[in-house]
Amino acid sequence: MDTVIRGGTVVTCDGTDRVLDGDVLVRDRTIVAVGRVTPAGVARVIDARGCAVMPGLVQAHVHLCQVLFRGMADDLPLLEWLRRRVWPLEAAHDEASVGASAELGLAEAMLGGTTTLLDMGTVRAHDAVMDACVRSGVRAVSGKAMMDRGDGVPAGLRESTRASLRESERLATAWRGAGDGRIGYAWAPRFVLSCSEPLVRETVDRAAVHGDLVHTHAAEHPAEREAVRQALGDDDVAVLRRWGVSGPRAILAHCVQLELDEARLLAREGTRVVHCPSANLKLGSGIARVAELDGLGVQLALGADGAPCNNNLDAWVELRHAALLAKVRTGVTTLPARRALRLATIDGARALGLDAQIGSIEAGKRADLAVVRLDGAHVEPGGDVFSRLVYACSSRDVVHVLVDGQLVVRDREHQRLDVERVKARARDQAKKLLARAAL
Ligand SMILES: [Zn+2]
Repeated sequence: MDTVIRGGTVVTCDGTDRVLDGDVLVRDRTIVAVGRVTPAGVARVIDARGCAVMPGLVQAHVHLCQVLFRGMADDLPLLEWLRRRVWPLEAAHDEASVGASAELGLAEAMLGGTTTLLDMGTVRAHDAVMDACVRSGVRAVSGKAMMDRGDGVPAGLRESTRASLRESERLATAWRGAGDGRIGYAWAPRFVLSCSEPLVRETVDRAAVHGDLVHTHAAEHPAEREAVRQALGDDDVAVLRRWGVSGPRAILAHCVQLELDEARLLAREGTRVVHCPSANLKLGSGIARVAELDGLGVQLALGADGAPCNNNLDAWVELRHAALLAKVRTGVTTLPARRALRLATIDGARALGLDAQIGSIEAGKRADLAVVRLDGAHVEPGGDVFSRLVYACSSRDVVHVLVDGQLVVRDREHQRLDVERVKARARDQAKKLLARAAL
């Protein structure tokens, strides 16, 4: 059956950023027409009058496994935050707590119009994240965290190089292409201080066999940068490049501390950089030079990172923060709303290698869409639609969400997850987890 999204302001994020008043026609998984459309027969009609119809938001760096830690790890610098809070909590995870965490994160993100995630898990129990992604209807690329060394890593997270590679390989084989092709695998060496050179090199080789992504953290915090220099004699971006992490299938989260000559190399090699402005503020890491990186041709995307360092998984907050912080960092004319919106849509899709399928509203692409009200008191009375979406709208304005042509959120209600049950289960699992972690 066809679905017609009728009478909205269609913000396409296509090559020329076309905006038009009209309809979007969806058949099965695919957008078949944009403008004035005629369905083939009986069609489901979604009334989009007073709304923007836009590509679903892409978050290219999140940790679904950490959503349960929301409110448990505040006001600490990065390395202490990891060693005193996040790692002990991750070490206390089991399948039930990881599953509850992922479901809560997916409910939050999808109700807010996020349709695609790049996710980094914890070391163990990652099947529970993959399973939750499949059931929720989201599009996701995800992988377990890999950690074969490092100071202060609890026993529950430590793994041998061989075991880390074996478990990643097992997960990749089990889940790659699941959910009718919505699920992909991203190999995830956590960061350079928690990974040996053989682990990273072998990971790059194995990921390349299937064209999987390699997803890691880099150049996040000044103190971390010093620790990396002490341990390895160079910056992490340089070390990662030497070990093979570069090019269009490599995704580096943060890059707040990146020097411009390093940025030029990343641009030339096509390495992806994910800007996580809220997490960078909350952990006191600094403000990434996003507009300058953009000007140099670095492929950028946005992400909320984790609930313990944000504390939301809300793409709208990241969008707004990215646009506003650029004014402070590089001048008030930089990263205008129209440019910022592309970071959260088509550029995010490109970062994940999915831009031929998603990220813009064009005939032939998969129907990953968000319908967003433009008639709230905080958004009226009008003006430029990019400005309204980036500076005035928020996740509460999202009413309907489609992923792969499936209506996963309808009238602000998740169609696949029972959100009341998800919240109750998360509360229960968070309590048990905290008791096990004994911080
Ligand atoms: Zn992260």
